[in-house]
Amino acid sequence: MSEEKRTLAGRRSFNSKVLDLLWGNSLLKRILASTAESGSMCHAYIFEGPHGSGRHTAALMFSLTAACGADTFPCLACEACRKLKEGISPDLITVSPEGDKKTLGVEAVRSIAESIYIAPNDLDVKFYLIPDADNMTIQAQNALLKLLEEPPRGVYFFILCESAANLLPTVRSRAPLIKMQKFADAELAGLLVRHDKNAAKMSESDHTGFMRCVRLADGSVGRALELIGSKKSAAATSLFERTESFFRLFSSTGAEARAKFTSFVISLSEDREELGEILSLITSAARDLIAVKGNSPVPPLFFADSASAEELAGKITTRELFAVARYAEEARADLMANANVYLTLAALAARLNSISR
Ligand SMILES: [Zn+2]
Repeated sequence: MSEEKRTLAGRRSFNSKVLDLLWGNSLLKRILASTAESGSMCHAYIFEGPHGSGRHTAALMFSLTAACGADTFPCLACEACRKLKEGISPDLITVSPEGDKKTLGVEAVRSIAESIYIAPNDLDVKFYLIPDADNMTIQAQNALLKLLEEPPRGVYFFILCESAANLLPTVRSRAPLIKMQKFADAELAGLLVRHDKNAAKMSESDHTGFMRCVRLADGSVGRALELIGSKKSAAATSLFERTESFFRLFSSTGAEARAKFTSFVISLSEDREELGEILSLITSAARDLIAVKGNSPVPPLFFADSASAEELAGKITTRELFAVARYAEEARADLMANANVYLTLAALAARLNSISR
């Protein structure tokens, strides 16, 4: 920031319009507003949340606030604001793994160290965005720690992760941790209908499909919009249908039905991410059925239509449902730990068949 701007800083005022870029997240917004008003932005922030939870938008809001020189800032209209919003500012540097590598290694952090003292191109400040910090190696995190300890003036880091538990405690201690808000299904549905035309339209024309997208989004706005605005809503429907078929086949008895069930489970999905979603739906649906059997007043998460839930619940015992929920959850955990998709499914099928019926 130039000397002139710095002396003006006291008279500048924060433009709260920037907060409209993100839905919900009132705590994050309070932090940004008070940081801006006091001119005390930290040199690094950790934004924690799943894909689609608004972490990039949060980093954008902080970068606009730090970069804009207007009296009412961020003005959202000057060249600095415009370039940052369009993602074309050369002074916002994204640090990602090289090529098709999955982990972010120490060499990537070394390249930050090499460029960190070079003056910004057209802003007064410079940003480093690390979008998948979960994938940083320990060595890379240790190298990053050195940079976080004494960054040059005007340099800011935005560290995005799914879980801050994947970061070294020393790295975590160097930057405030901001957790992105996870919305409850009803809240998310309301926000979508109010703010997004496609969502409002879908909620009218295909309410079941709309609620399925909401359910699959698991509290994340970006993920819900992705599902609704694309052919993926058809894919969402197919995931729900496969989950229902799973329970229908599981509830049928006889050797032939068993064999059919086994081959169905083994071919649930070849895609890791999609399979993870189906397994999480199976767990939710099993819990719904347990609740139905116990006459719980809790609204079902999976079954939009309570008649089909009651029919299925009548055919499967509570003990069996607990086992299904547990095995599906364990299979999902195995997948997250990078287990082979086919082997995970084969093991799941064997465990499900071991439940005496
Ligand atoms: Zn501006």
